[in-house]
Amino acid sequence: MNMHDSEVMAGILENIGYVAAENKEQADVLLINTCCVRETAENKIFGLMGKLRKLKYEKPSLIIGIGGCMTQQEKVAEKIKTRFPFIDLIYGTENYHRLAELLKTAQGSQKTVLELSHQINPVIEGLPIKRASGFRAWVVVTYGCNNYCTYCIVPYVRRSERSRQPAHIILEVKDLVAHGYREITLLGQNVNSYGKDLEQPLDFAGLLAEVNKISGLDRIRFITSHPRDFNKRLIETISSCEKICEHIHLPVQAGSNHILKKMNRGYTREHFINLVESIRQSIPGVSITTDIMIGFPGESDKDFQDTLDLIEKIRFDSAFTFIYSQRRGTPAATMEGQLPDYVKSERIKVLIDIQNKISKEINLQEVGKKRWLLVEGTSKTNKKLLSGRTRSNKTVIFPGPHFLNGKIVEVEITEGKLTHLAGKWLDNYY
Ligand code: SF4
Repeated sequence: MNMHDSEVMAGILENIGYVAAENKEQADVLLINTCCVRETAENKIFGLMGKLRKLKYEKPSLIIGIGGCMTQQEKVAEKIKTRFPFIDLIYGTENYHRLAELLKTAQGSQKTVLELSHQINPVIEGLPIKRASGFRAWVVVTYGCNNYCTYCIVPYVRRSERSRQPAHIILEVKDLVAHGYREITLLGQNVNSYGKDLEQPLDFAGLLAEVNKISGLDRIRFITSHPRDFNKRLIETISSCEKICEHIHLPVQAGSNHILKKMNRGYTREHFINLVESIRQSIPGVSITTDIMIGFPGESDKDFQDTLDLIEKIRFDSAFTFIYSQRRGTPAATMEGQLPDYVKSERIKVLIDIQNKISKEINLQEVGKKRWLLVEGTSKTNKKLLSGRTRSNKTVIFPGPHFLNGKIVEVEITEGKLTHLAGKWLDNYY
């Protein structure tokens, strides 16, 4: 969501005549889009301030703005304003649409301009977007979140859930297809609860079915799903719509019912295991990835073992693993039983080792299979190789001509590694 917000901010700047600078030293405007989900992300921004101060000192006309989830927290915004007065503009998550006006005000002001909206804006349509890719696009379906997981700051900085009108979503996707886009990813903090606030309700399954009808579109993805709201109708829709890719990111967070309850996740491990079973039965070849958090307050050895047991049982294709980070203002931050760092570090190492072994084994099973990839560009580590993604969201690196960028190509998988696959192009593409 943050990356997409950056695309919107870049779109607004482009709309008022700015072009992307080669580097920050050449820029006239520098906007920092922040995240506050984990403490390390916040610390990085404070660490960046020294460098920003130097830039401003060397080029006083430079306008520096800081926005996003971190600055939506009033205390943090005030702290930045007081401690770093050379920052020209501070704005929150509900103020992006006013960026052009805010920049103008900041350019004419000697003081820091601070704008945080405390009200929840309705969905604002029609903002310009400068997309990072010419063939894959994010399309927002919901803003905000109503779940209030006890560790999470998102509902406080992104506010309550608001769904976009289906007609606007369909129009955006049709426009993208008309401009050559082949894959879209529907985006929301919890896409599965899409539509609950619409006057004429349409659920996420219904929306997916509508998007699937758009001719010229090749692939549909969506993120993120909440296990509590992932229902049978959605599974059937994914299974019956040919454009929806066989990949589901389903954050489990913990394998212990005791911890899941403390997290306010709204499901049990048994529910999660049954859900994955139903998904796998109905959607052949589906890959399932997850997020797992280690070291939640009160996590005992037994709770941790339950999480390990769950990942062995489910065998996720891959997992984003996190150490619990205490976020001020969330219920979990003041819970008893905060664990020492060394316990969290030891546990996450064990977890990563087990998950890595499983991921590698699953990737090795791909060897010899033929897969269709959407080519996304060159490999990050070797510019001579191309990188593409299977429908099941596995990255495949392979040698091939650069005109294949943006094409859907057939490859044979030749190697299975921990984080990606290697392949051989079979001369087919469209
Ligand atoms: S579902 Fe939970 S973890 Fe996800 S954004 Fe909402 S509150 Fe945060």
